Amino acid sequence: MKRTGILFQIVLSLLLAASAVGFAVGNMAQRQEVQRLEEQLAGQADLTVSLLSGLMLESIIVEDVPVLETGLIEAVTRNPQIVSIQIRSPAGKLLAAANAPGAPGAPPPDAHVIYERPIELEGASFGTMVVDWSTQDGKALVAAKVRQIIIWTVVPVLALSLLVLLLVHILALRPLNMIHNRMSDAIAGLRSPLRPLPWFASREFRALDFSVGVLEDTFAERDEREFAMEQAREAADIANRAKSEFLANMSHEIRTPMNGVIGMAELLQDTALDEDQRMYAETIAKSGTALLTIINDILNFSKIEAGKVELNLAPFNLQTALEDVVTLLSPKAAEKGVEVTMRYDPALPEIFEGDAGRIRQVITNIAGNAVKFTRQGYVYIEITGREQGGRHMLTLQVTDTGIGIEPERTGQIFRAFEQADNAATRNFEGTGLGLAISARLLELMGGSVQVQSELGKGSVFTIEMPLQAGGHVASARAGSPLSFAGLNGLLVDDLELNRVILSERLSSWGVTCTLAASAHEGLEILSDAQLDGRQFDFIILDYQMPAMDGRELAARIRAMPGFEAVPLIVLSSVEHALSRSDCEAIGVCEFALKPVRAVQLRQVITRVLSVQDQKPAIADSGGRDEAPQGRLLKVLLAEDNRTNQLVVTKMLKDAPLKISVAKNGVEAVAQFQAERPDLVLMDMMMPEMDGIEATTEMRRIEVETGGRKCPIVALTANALQSHREKCLEAGMDDFLSKPINKKALTEAVSKWTCGDDLQRTGS
Ligand code: ADP
Repeated sequence: MKRTGILFQIVLSLLLAASAVGFAVGNMAQRQEVQRLEEQLAGQADLTVSLLSGLMLESIIVEDVPVLETGLIEAVTRNPQIVSIQIRSPAGKLLAAANAPGAPGAPPPDAHVIYERPIELEGASFGTMVVDWSTQDGKALVAAKVRQIIIWTVVPVLALSLLVLLLVHILALRPLNMIHNRMSDAIAGLRSPLRPLPWFASREFRALDFSVGVLEDTFAERDEREFAMEQAREAADIANRAKSEFLANMSHEIRTPMNGVIGMAELLQDTALDEDQRMYAETIAKSGTALLTIINDILNFSKIEAGKVELNLAPFNLQTALEDVVTLLSPKAAEKGVEVTMRYDPALPEIFEGDAGRIRQVITNIAGNAVKFTRQGYVYIEITGREQGGRHMLTLQVTDTGIGIEPERTGQIFRAFEQADNAATRNFEGTGLGLAISARLLELMGGSVQVQSELGKGSVFTIEMPLQAGGHVASARAGSPLSFAGLNGLLVDDLELNRVILSERLSSWGVTCTLAASAHEGLEILSDAQLDGRQFDFIILDYQMPAMDGRELAARIRAMPGFEAVPLIVLSSVEHALSRSDCEAIGVCEFALKPVRAVQLRQVITRVLSVQDQKPAIADSGGRDEAPQGRLLKVLLAEDNRTNQLVVTKMLKDAPLKISVAKNGVEAVAQFQAERPDLVLMDMMMPEMDGIEATTEMRRIEVETGGRKCPIVALTANALQSHREKCLEAGMDDFLSKPINKKALTEAVSKWTCGDDLQRTGS
């Protein structure tokens, strides 16, 4: 029924109604007609009996059988409905009988009726007459009549039904159909030509049609809105793409002149200047760097917002990455007397798979804030983790004793352009983008960041980050941690945190550590050891200690019999606290700048132990070719911009290098072939032949002519990761972002020409 149309349903209903009416009427008519037939037959029988008995009374009385039979035969012959007739005496004896001709036996029981009537005259009974009447004809008549009645009832009912059907079709179904079509078109988003309802359509249909019209308009408006929105979205997408392009280009355009400004300002500071001029030059350099940070933040944030950041997953050394950050931040912290310490859970693996650059960026930002907003005390970075289904859920906590954040502002600082708006923070520079960028980057990596803070007391930023452990990093610096197994070390530092971190690290390398919380305690331990005849393989001293500093303690140790040659390692957060000549004066002594990195500590210990053994110091060659001794290293600078040529050459003027300049890719390749330099510094955007092409050419020349592979370092103003990857793919070895600062440039040059970045060890 669900699928049938209303028309079919109406037709079916009408047919059922007509049948019901026909059945009821037929039934009733039949009953009436049968009753009438019976009454008619009974009347006829009575009449026949009284006529016959009147005529044949005498013959009955005298029992004149032949006369009676003749009379009965005649009666039967004249009346075809009589099947048989009998006359019986009052005693029940059969006097005479006659059967209808052609009726051999008794007719079927339902086709005849038997009437038995007394033969009477003036109250006296002379016998009975039994008449057998056939009802066949009567019944046929009744059936014909009933049929007729049914036909006369059903036909008008059907005719009426058809009329109703026609009216329903015209008055209801047609308008309904039109409304339905209009509605379907509206839903399908088609604007059908306006077809008004027929004039006779009822008020209800007109109301429905009106509602559909309203719906049609609503749909049309919605479609228009959606279309407009779609167009706006497409336009926004195009604009967004254009913006990203623009930003990438801007990044290049801005960095190139910034390179000139910052580089020249730095160079200017190295010249003879009076006090005012020095201050101006410093301000230019500082403002330039600050401006660059802001530009970088904005570019970075736009990129993340545009969903253009792709994570570059590769194995990296997390511990080294964190140490890099600490090393970077320490000088600034040290200026304020704030100490930056780090604890890397020795149970954690060092190598993880992740986007080292992004992770470093996040940690630099959060730890950088901690240093920025801390005037006194310390910044403590702790990395712990637990294994979870093949991955490590790392927890990185940055605790500071800085200005803290009001509780109601802690939720806001992760939003873009938000700064905890108290008077204190306004004294600090910043765009308010750093944490927003960090939070989004962490989200991309499947991690999160939270903060707990108390105003005036300090803050704790907690980063959660899932990382896959494993993979191999080509690390030239990693030595065998077990090489120190069995050694005895004495550690003298007044700060407990430092003692704990260092002793934990040394213990993980197999060193047995004795700890002293002051210089005096250290000396006591040594004199006890002297008495017991114990020896220490090395002593690590903190330089800045109350009561007695590292230099004095070193002198006292040397004065103690038995400790004249024990290797000493002095750690200080102030650069040049001990000069090389100081170290030489103390003898078997190494100096390292705090925070000391694990690799560096290992190197310093190795060096100091090997000096003691009269072995040549172990240098970290990094698996690269050593710089040829006794001649100036040749550096080829490929750079078209005159200012940048000047900046780079001036920045490297004190280094023992011979720098030749090529002003485009073609010149660079020609000079490369002719001179075979020890290092190429390659600008990426140059006329005639760009940096990528020039690098490919140089690598081809190397393959053809053989010989040593020359390191090529890209100098580029393009900050995008994809660009960086392109450089490395083309065969470059490293990447320096413009504007180039002197430290980064000299570090890179020293890294790629003569081994590890010596500046960092502070020796
Ligand atoms: P900004 O460039 O201003 O530092 P961030 O997004 O890095 O931007 O930080 C947002 C704000 O959060 C900062 O301006 C500062 O008010 C607050 N903040 C962040 N880290 C600290 C912290 N360690 N101690 C106190 N306030 C902090």
